[in-house]
Amino acid sequence: MQRATMMQHGYHAIMQILVASSNPHKVNEIKAVLTPLGIDAHGLDSLSQLPPEPVEDGDTFEANARIKAMAYALATEQPCLADDSGLEVDALGGQPGVYSARYAEREGIAQPSNADRTERDHANNKLLLERVRDVPHEQRTARFVCAMCLADATGQILAETRGTFDGIIIDEPRGNNGFGYDTLLLIPELGKTSAELPPSEKNERSHRGQAVREMAMRIPQQLSG
Ligand code: IMP
Repeated sequence: MQRATMMQHGYHAIMQILVASSNPHKVNEIKAVLTPLGIDAHGLDSLSQLPPEPVEDGDTFEANARIKAMAYALATEQPCLADDSGLEVDALGGQPGVYSARYAEREGIAQPSNADRTERDHANNKLLLERVRDVPHEQRTARFVCAMCLADATGQILAETRGTFDGIIIDEPRGNNGFGYDTLLLIPELGKTSAELPPSEKNERSHRGQAVREMAMRIPQQLSG
């Protein structure tokens, strides 16, 4: 039964979905779309015991989203939604791409072994700014990409979606919201970076917002068979 039909008939069963991420920003952006639909999405932090982290060795966002969705669904026996995302910068041949989360580390920039997410984001942003320093502004086109994959409790893939969020890379960080590269991606038509958008406006336009809204339309019919 479609979710809209379920609501019309007063059927409000709560559907539980594990979101295969411990990044609170990602989990909150996904929850903002799913919770109002009556879907209880919870991140990895909600688990009493964390399953072993799968190796994300795919060449594409889609491949890594599949790896995470299947691994966590199988380990927890719960329906699992995975997001793999990153930033593609055209002038850098699509880098950092699938390596966005660990860009600086991969490029040999020394970091403390216990660096947390904020410290890694800072090192990644610093490196990105160095790499685009000599690129003319009109060639600074870039986009966030999000691939989402939903697996059922047996690890079978039920649906895959993708969203993109286009902008240009600016010279210095702007804004306080969000995470990752949000402070560096300017959305030209808004004159604001992704980090200057209120969370709800980012979600209305963003790669993740698009991917999860499309996924939301497919979740109920998929999981209710
Ligand atoms: P993942 O957890 O392997 O999918 O890595 C995603 C990485 O891509 C994050 O650590 C960020 O560096 C970057 N990224 C993905 N989505 C966003 C976003 O919405 N804003 C800013 N950076 C993002």
